[in-house]
Amino acid sequence: MPELPEVETTRRGVEPFCRGRAVRAVIVREPRLRWPVPDTLATGMAGQIILAVERRAKYLLFQTAAGIALVHLGMSGSLRVVRRGDPVARHDHVDVALAGGHSLRFNDPRRFGCFLWLAPGERHPLLANLGPEPLSPEFDGQLLYRRSRGRRGPVKNFIMDARVVVGVGNIYANEALFLAGIRPDRAAGRVSAARYECLSQCIKQVLTSAIEQGGTTLRDFVGGDGKPGYFARHLHVYGRGGQPCTCCGSQLRACRLGQRGSVYCVACQR
Ligand SMILES: [Zn+2]
Repeated sequence: MPELPEVETTRRGVEPFCRGRAVRAVIVREPRLRWPVPDTLATGMAGQIILAVERRAKYLLFQTAAGIALVHLGMSGSLRVVRRGDPVARHDHVDVALAGGHSLRFNDPRRFGCFLWLAPGERHPLLANLGPEPLSPEFDGQLLYRRSRGRRGPVKNFIMDARVVVGVGNIYANEALFLAGIRPDRAAGRVSAARYECLSQCIKQVLTSAIEQGGTTLRDFVGGDGKPGYFARHLHVYGRGGQPCTCCGSQLRACRLGQRGSVYCVACQR
């Protein structure tokens, strides 16, 4: 599943092809995504110039003077840049044809993604109630400490709650908790301010290094091969239950928290 680093890498990959370009046409081959692609997408976006490509949480926002195209990659989606005339593959549901000969192509085998159109000033419910961006200065240990007081649920579920902070998916939550030495099942309200400061830094670190790794796979996003370039990551704990801890050699323990797989070291994480 594309997580925040893949979405940010996609943004960085497609932006140079889109920004300042006029949209010649929008071709919708399959409108039945997670929510139907509205007719207003093609009518609203055609003829507009893409002013900026922004990201909020895991949503991409293509800004124009007439509105915003809001894209989510869902479970299996990818957005890449192709040349006009490149053959259309199965699951290539939406093309945004740009002046100059490139198209943005949205492919999504499982169709859990979305491609919506927001009128100027429209506040979409999907974007309401989102917490701060994890890589922004507003996200820090103080925020985590304040928001967690009185919470009895596991700290891992707390940091994956998009109302607290957006974009901390399961992989990155596992990895950041390992680096911070915090057990994922510890009650969120019982983690100290100093440890939350450390955890906030570790969250920024795992996301930043994933985005940096992603930079090396940018060609996968802009190439024509249709394969989303989800990253091979260097992981300490995620997916490594039963294997030795990279730090102390103890056997890593796997458990489930809120239906999500969690792996931690009983020796290194408390
Ligand atoms: Zn260990």
